[in-house]
Amino acid sequence: MDDFSIRIYGDPVLKKVSQPITDINGEVVDFSNFMASAMKNAHGIGLAAPQVGRNIRLVTIDREALEIGKGVQVLINPVVKYIEGESVMEEGCLSIPGLYWDVIRPKKVVIQALELTPKGNVREVEIEADELYARVILHEIDHLDGILFVDRLPPDERRIAVARWKRRMKSGRTS
Ligand code: ZN
Repeated sequence: MDDFSIRIYGDPVLKKVSQPITDINGEVVDFSNFMASAMKNAHGIGLAAPQVGRNIRLVTIDREALEIGKGVQVLINPVVKYIEGESVMEEGCLSIPGLYWDVIRPKKVVIQALELTPKGNVREVEIEADELYARVILHEIDHLDGILFVDRLPPDERRIAVARWKRRMKSGRTS
């Protein structure tokens, strides 16, 4: 059986800058399918490779949960090209289970990436996203740069949020 365990805050793999993928081979396709399953298993709407222990630039996004299409979107080497506006929304992360906090992010984003289709075809895409979709994309790209959502908080808030989460983890509560 596959091990879908998600790396938790404090794990050094989450703090590293991930490497671009240069060869989209069968192993990468298999890994993206594994990530899609791990994401579904954890009821996440997005997942980045470091969260399952690999520092490569690959993310999966649940299109159905976001109501933007069917199935899972697999993005490789995503690069932010443009951001616009600002929005505040409560955010969570599978790697910081149980912590939810308001995070300020751009309202709209344009990215370029390689998209891997379920059949293993690769195509270059430019994606314009706003609201929750933009937020998920930016959250997942942050993971590829070793940035967690608490790192986006003002320092004082970050301290409070992390301390609260650690207390909770100690007492065994994750929700
Ligand atoms: Zn996350």
